[in-house]
Amino acid sequence: ALTAGVVGLPNVGKSTLFNAITQAGAESANYPFCTIDPNVGVVDVPDKRLQKLAELVQPQRVIPTSVQITDIAGLVKGASKGEGLGNQFLAHIREVDAILHVVRCFEDDNISHVSGKVDPAADIETIHLELVLADLDTVERRMDRLARQKKSGDPQAKIEYELLSRLQPELAEGRMARLVEWNEEELQLLKGLNLLTLKPILYVANIGEDEVAQADQNQHVQIVQKIAAQEEAEMVTVSAQVEAEIAELEGEEKELFIEELGLQQSGLDRLIAATYRLLGLITYFTAGEKEVRAWTIRKGTKAPQAASVIHTDFERGFIRAEVVGYQALVEAGSITEAREKGWLRLEGKEYVVADGDVITFRFNV
Ligand code: GDP
Repeated sequence: ALTAGVVGLPNVGKSTLFNAITQAGAESANYPFCTIDPNVGVVDVPDKRLQKLAELVQPQRVIPTSVQITDIAGLVKGASKGEGLGNQFLAHIREVDAILHVVRCFEDDNISHVSGKVDPAADIETIHLELVLADLDTVERRMDRLARQKKSGDPQAKIEYELLSRLQPELAEGRMARLVEWNEEELQLLKGLNLLTLKPILYVANIGEDEVAQADQNQHVQIVQKIAAQEEAEMVTVSAQVEAEIAELEGEEKELFIEELGLQQSGLDRLIAATYRLLGLITYFTAGEKEVRAWTIRKGTKAPQAASVIHTDFERGFIRAEVVGYQALVEAGSITEAREKGWLRLEGKEYVVADGDVITFRFNV
């Protein structure tokens, strides 16, 4: 499964946030095959559509989909030079598909800051530099190898070498690979290198517990907003401390507390939804009397592969998919009604599943 890794300097609130994530953890009964790794949190993806579908269908159970978040504690200045456990942490970042970069925006004199004061721009720069330097190392090693292959007349090596010689100076100037313009073909080639700075980033601005209702007024948050906008990266503002408190509550108590804070949704729910988008994931639904359930696929997945998320046999024996969009189904009121209105579409093997599709798969066993 795809996973996003939590990174950031020491004392910015990563563990607090990660604890909130694991505390809010998905109903483990739904994921019996998940390996238990203390650094991986599996959380339900909040989705109002699921509740609405459940109201229509009245199933025996409702099962949300989930997203994985990995804790990558301990990235420090000098990591790219292998200082301390630096290299190991960078290796962990290499394994994730997207980065959740926690930035300290709360002031608290009792909690020391690695560089002496709260300074989001400098913090972000520090982390970026480590990632960029690690990539520079990767790219230069690769270029050395390619240079040799190129000499023996390997045309593919030549193409890749030329591509990397465009990337190398950008990295040397401190620019992330993600922010350089590449065409689709180049991007595919670069993906093979698993560069750290090619991974999508979501900034998580961690604010003080008394600021949640007017987060935008925090000047550190404004700085992160500006950086995120420049990089066309997403950002969410949360108070890790508050989220840890919310995560301990359930049901009505939880909703009441969120309301008292002046929020519409917990910060964690916003964070999870943003992480899901960051990973390029979308949701389709199955809606039967037994079970209404959300399923996760990557954007661009075709019907048979989408079916394989439910069961591999579904892909092998795929005949067709009966599809109705979520909005249309809600408007129709039931699948039967949708069918009568002619809103139920029969789709074949080449159909690209859309977010919110409600699907019944027909297949041979
Ligand atoms: P990490 O080193 O990035 O994992 O940071 P921690 O989650 O361990 O947090 C460092 C310290 O900051 C802990 O004492 C937390 O309780 C505290 N902390 C985290 N978030 C907040 C916050 O929103 N407000 C305040 N005042 N303290 C916080």
